[in-house]
Amino acid sequence: MNGQPLVYLDNAATSQKPQVVIDAIAAFYQKDNANIYRGTYELSQRTTDLYEGAREQVAKFIGADRSEIVLTAGATASLNLAAFGYGLPVLRPGDEIAVTAADHHSNLVSWQEAAKMTGAKLVYLPLDLGGKVDVERVKKEQIIGKKTKILAIAQVTNVLGTNQPIAELINLVHQAGGVAVIDGAQAAGHLPVDVKKLDADFYAFSGHKMLSQTGIGVLYGKKKLLEATRPLFFGGEMIEEVGLTSATYKKAPYKFEAGSQNVSGAISLGSAIDYLTEIGLDKIAAREAELGKAAAAGLRAIPGVRVYGQGGGIVSFNLAGIHPHDLATALDTQGIAVRAGQHCAQPMMNFLQVPGTVRASFAFYNNEEDVSALITGVKEAKEFFHGLR
Ligand code: PMP
Repeated sequence: MNGQPLVYLDNAATSQKPQVVIDAIAAFYQKDNANIYRGTYELSQRTTDLYEGAREQVAKFIGADRSEIVLTAGATASLNLAAFGYGLPVLRPGDEIAVTAADHHSNLVSWQEAAKMTGAKLVYLPLDLGGKVDVERVKKEQIIGKKTKILAIAQVTNVLGTNQPIAELINLVHQAGGVAVIDGAQAAGHLPVDVKKLDADFYAFSGHKMLSQTGIGVLYGKKKLLEATRPLFFGGEMIEEVGLTSATYKKAPYKFEAGSQNVSGAISLGSAIDYLTEIGLDKIAAREAELGKAAAAGLRAIPGVRVYGQGGGIVSFNLAGIHPHDLATALDTQGIAVRAGQHCAQPMMNFLQVPGTVRASFAFYNNEEDVSALITGVKEAKEFFHGLR
């Protein structure tokens, strides 16, 4: 990039893909491509088996049953399905939806709209300076209480990488009689996830952030809740019987998968899951945290750099007096790819009282040389900008 070797540090936006995943996609199109559920012929049956096999792999990956796995277009589609398929029918005026300022727009805005349409209200949970929910205050002030119908929160936030105390929060919302929708977009593929242990009611994530192709994602939902969730898309293959004025629908998860599905996406997700599982999610979590910590320490040692937070492989920072976009552009001239701006989390920028941040996000396949490149890059950028003064 710009004549330099690429140092890819935007893994929280999307991951790079291992060769096995790319090969799995190619092999599917070379040998197994047909449409699914059209199974009067062998090839279509084989394609269907591959697609359903991927659903099974996803289920195993997060400790769920295959009937609880809806394959979607990504975390955004999954969160919209939770908000409009589940939320709309159950929310009433005055009901509360607990969210945080640290959440991604795809979570926040979906629930904002569901609230507007139903007369429900968003309630923001208090955060400490590190962007973590202050559970003690939530308990003391009973912020999650009788009116809370839904808790909708990221397990790991995308700006600071904060690991939220979701087990405690899920417990609180259950005591209040509500349900927990967990945005796992920055968690799945980065740490072990067991939806049953967490007792999450819904759990959303994207394939492309965990080594698979784009356009595939997951909404896990407890069986009973998926049954209560309305489909958002209607069409082929999600129906049971179609009359002239109405139709009946298949059981979950099939009622949510209208039309031709993203088969190669599902296969690539299954392949990515195999790859991640073989390495081990504990090992991945430890390695990403190690790289993130090393980067945060190196950045903090540069006078003028402020690190807002680091969790796992994610580090958000700024250089005094330099706009984050300018710093990211300077890093790009050195081949270093980072994200700068609001990170689809405007309320979080207001919370941090900054127009934006620079975010470096490490994956397990990054290494210490990448950490050094970032630190040297920021130092060089600082000298360059100071030279302009
Ligand atoms: N939630 C979080 C925490 C995210 O980081 C992202 C992606 N930036 C999303 C949701 C949305 O994921 P996607 O764009 O893959 O739908």
